[in-house]
Amino acid sequence: MNQTRLSCVSCARTYPLFELRYECDCLGLLEVLHEEKGLAELKSKADLRLVSREPIDRSGVWRFREAVVPLEKHEIVTQGEGGTGFHQIDSLRAWTGCQGLSIKHEGENPTGSFKDRGMTAAVTIAKKLGVKLLACASTGNTSSALSSYAARAGLQAVVFLPSGKVSLGKMAQTLGYGAHVLAVKGDFDDAMQIVRDLARAGDVYMVNSLNPFRIEGQKTIIWEILQDMNWVAPDWIVVPGGNLGNTSAFGKAIEEAFAWGWIKKKPRLATIQAAGANPFYKSYLNGFQSLESMQAETIATAIRIGNPVNFTRASRAIINTRGVVGEVTDAEILTAKGAIDRSGLGCEPASAATLAGLRQLIQSGVVKSSETVVAVLTGHMLKDTDAILKSQNLETEEVAADPKAIQLSLDRLRARN
Ligand SMILES: *Cc1c(COP(=O)(O)O)cnc(C)c1O
Ligand SMILES: [Zn+2]
Repeated sequence: MNQTRLSCVSCARTYPLFELRYECDCLGLLEVLHEEKGLAELKSKADLRLVSREPIDRSGVWRFREAVVPLEKHEIVTQGEGGTGFHQIDSLRAWTGCQGLSIKHEGENPTGSFKDRGMTAAVTIAKKLGVKLLACASTGNTSSALSSYAARAGLQAVVFLPSGKVSLGKMAQTLGYGAHVLAVKGDFDDAMQIVRDLARAGDVYMVNSLNPFRIEGQKTIIWEILQDMNWVAPDWIVVPGGNLGNTSAFGKAIEEAFAWGWIKKKPRLATIQAAGANPFYKSYLNGFQSLESMQAETIATAIRIGNPVNFTRASRAIINTRGVVGEVTDAEILTAKGAIDRSGLGCEPASAATLAGLRQLIQSGVVKSSETVVAVLTGHMLKDTDAILKSQNLETEEVAADPKAIQLSLDRLRARN
């Protein structure tokens, strides 16, 4: 018998793993508490699975399935998520001033963001629990992932998006996979409250990162990074923070990997917020004594969140890893995005907060230029094409379809270098 249970972050009360609930009776957040038996060996098992041909072994999430959610193979809804690229790029090392920089690009997931890692777990559980209608509030990526995975599982999805605040690409993607879309006259935090109320009333199954299974899926970003590095932990891992699901997941993944002996030291976490959506940063400055919600505004719509629901879990993650929280302006985000795009990698604006923040941390000496750092890019460049076209001087050249005109243009181009 597997003894894995849901456990309250605030009062430690536990519940059965497959009970339909999102919070403790004390209203604390729930998390999955794994039974430790056998998990030390999962590290080498996961390495062996790298050469397997089975879809669930190839998935960067289910490769670690015993420590995500223990399930029968046939119960798992997967689309080959994870297995994302791990890049070393000279131009970005120079731009950040960080010589030991590697980049994990989570935009390389099936729907273009890391949300797929959480959603494969949440939708798998929804199917197992037999729920009929799944719901989320979203700034666009969670809804894209839900819409896709629900379709794959043959389940209905409804998503609540802040009206006019979601990029066209994410909106189109969400509609295209077939979810029902409700545009809320308000911001993400208003939409989130609606979904929490509906979930409490039992109307929908909520798959926002409050859902403990989302966190379990997203933990594998860290484990895959450790595997990419042959289980030698980096000094730092840097990630953008909005609703703080990832920060929470990263903290849990690091604790577990350390407890199970997969790594000998814990990497430190750095969460970067946008200056216009920085309640976690402000709370960090006062020692996490309280969280004051705010009206959020930033060009990085994926982290335009003023009342992060994962605050308790996320602050614990920063404390336990001796981590830091930073903030960057929209101008810094756009400059970083320009450098990332022109390196050939590309990402959406929220992702660029990572490198903008790292550059600051190097300049202030918090991170040493000789330390090993993994920066996580959270979303794909095509998620927000507006942000590309509005920035800098991106110009096309009108040219007549005749060889002479084209030759002239090529000559000018060559002369530029
Ligand atoms: C969801 C999202 C974030 C924010 O992640 P949290 O877990 O909410 O902190 C950052 N970047 C992208 C691209 C996202 O989709
Ligand atoms: Zn409790």
